Amino acid sequence: MSQVQSAAKQVDAVVVGAGFAGMYGIQRLREKGLKVQGFEAGHSVGGTWYWNRYPGARVDSQAYIYQYWFSDELIKEWDWSERFPAQPETEKYLNHVADKFEIRKDFQFETKVEAAKWDDGAKRWTVTTDKGDVVSAQFLLMSTGGLSAPLVPPFKHHEKFKGQIIHTGRWPKEGVDFAGKKVGVIGTGATGIQVVQTIAPQVGQLTVYQRTANYTIPMRNPKYDDADRAGLKAGAKAMHKRVNSTFAGFDYDWQATDLMAMDPEAREAQLNEWFADGSLGFWIGSIQGVLMDESINAVFSDFVKRKIRARVHDPKVADLLVPDDHGFGTRRVPLETKYYEAFNQPNVKLVSVKKTPIVEFTERGIRTTEGEQELDIVIFATGFDAGTGALTRVDVRGEGGQSLRDDWNQHGIHTTMGLQVHGYPNMFMTMAPYSPAAAFCNVPTCLQQQVDWIADCVDYVRKTGKQAIQPGAEIENNWLAHHDEVANLTLVPKTNSWYMGSNVEGKPRRLLAYAGGAQNYRAVCDDLKAKQYQGFEIA
Ligand code: NAP
Repeated sequence: MSQVQSAAKQVDAVVVGAGFAGMYGIQRLREKGLKVQGFEAGHSVGGTWYWNRYPGARVDSQAYIYQYWFSDELIKEWDWSERFPAQPETEKYLNHVADKFEIRKDFQFETKVEAAKWDDGAKRWTVTTDKGDVVSAQFLLMSTGGLSAPLVPPFKHHEKFKGQIIHTGRWPKEGVDFAGKKVGVIGTGATGIQVVQTIAPQVGQLTVYQRTANYTIPMRNPKYDDADRAGLKAGAKAMHKRVNSTFAGFDYDWQATDLMAMDPEAREAQLNEWFADGSLGFWIGSIQGVLMDESINAVFSDFVKRKIRARVHDPKVADLLVPDDHGFGTRRVPLETKYYEAFNQPNVKLVSVKKTPIVEFTERGIRTTEGEQELDIVIFATGFDAGTGALTRVDVRGEGGQSLRDDWNQHGIHTTMGLQVHGYPNMFMTMAPYSPAAAFCNVPTCLQQQVDWIADCVDYVRKTGKQAIQPGAEIENNWLAHHDEVANLTLVPKTNSWYMGSNVEGKPRRLLAYAGGAQNYRAVCDDLKAKQYQGFEIA
């Protein structure tokens, strides 16, 4: 053991991040008998639901599938108030789980992990933090989140602006008073849409800077009563089984409907029926052709475009709000509530930054090629360095001191099923590139599956008296080839978005999430476990 190793606090595993996955990681690794140390930059648990407390933040997955499954007691005692709960309720749920299972005692909060270095000799990780901690651990679980490294585009003279600038992913806990204020929102992804529809009635004046218009689905969000909740709790076991068997970890799945064989009226009625569910079921619970076949995709695109247009009073504004450069569902489809009606309000203005680009920030606001707009507050709903950002912001060093950041920059992002990386033994990840969890999954379904697999793998290494496990180069290359093959069967690589890494300048363009289905991914993971990690190097 090196000097640094022996001076360090000794644990079996370090878990980075106290979100959905990190909390579960602590729980599962503890169950396997490991001594664990968690680190979390925030003041408390919650991850995404801790940081993204912007106005209107809420889930796009139904509450009854956005939960943990490991405790029947937890399922029975927790009451969801509505189908798509807002951020405070989800955060409260995660706090409840943390209290009930005493998750907090193994986390050190307000602490950022700065570096994690693999010691080839000791076969252990040394983890260091911004608070001066040095911890030695056999295993490292990076549950740092797929959408947790905020992206702030480099706008010219950004620093000159005298008003307030806030990124949605770092929203102040004390909230923001919008009354009478001139507010600008940059970005119209899932986040920007939720912000705009929520603050439009509160602000003095709202200017929305849109680059790419998105397809959306109107959310149907009924409140639950006791009978609803009793029904959902009674069906929880079956629901757990169901979400583990579907393409995207939701309760709905691809249907066999032959939409193209229908006459136009029947087809419209079918689309309306799927649309009326008010969930992502219109997208990933309709027919798989929507993501694979240009002509089917065009039918969906046309349908949603007509729905959008019908709600916007000014046809010129409608022209801007209707997507014109990609097909439906080839980027994330947000759910919305009265988003389009916001643009019918006299105090809301839409600026297409494609037509009139942002030139610079000024002391008083934002100048586009059309002129200056005075603003008191600018909200950056500009997204995240998805999948890799939170991992590469930590100085991770694998075998021979290899930097993960440099490795991915030089050789492209590589992982084995988003779970491990060749050259980085005993490091595990959740929601990382090339797993369905990275984008094509109801996140809690896939995170729990990944953490279960990781905990079993760690347990296997310990029980067989081994010290380290990592995927071999061959299995990693095979997975990447399979990943690309599946990705290229879909229409997604044709469109720019964080799904392709194209929202970050210089990021290699490759579909971040595995598109072969969460249920198939699960089967591959189960098979690997059954075959005692064939293709992995176990030392
Ligand atoms: P996003 O989807 O990446 O959207 C970022 C927005 O900022 C886009 O409209 C983008 O335009 C715009 N933008 C970025 N840089 C810009 C620039 N330099 N100038 C002008 N506009 C710029 O990020 P997000 O909305 O935060 O959502 C990320 C993901 O988080 C979602 O896809 C979803 O998976 C998750 N999320 C989920 C929920 C939910 O479940 N309800 C809510 C929010 C977020 P372009 O499109 O042209 O790049």
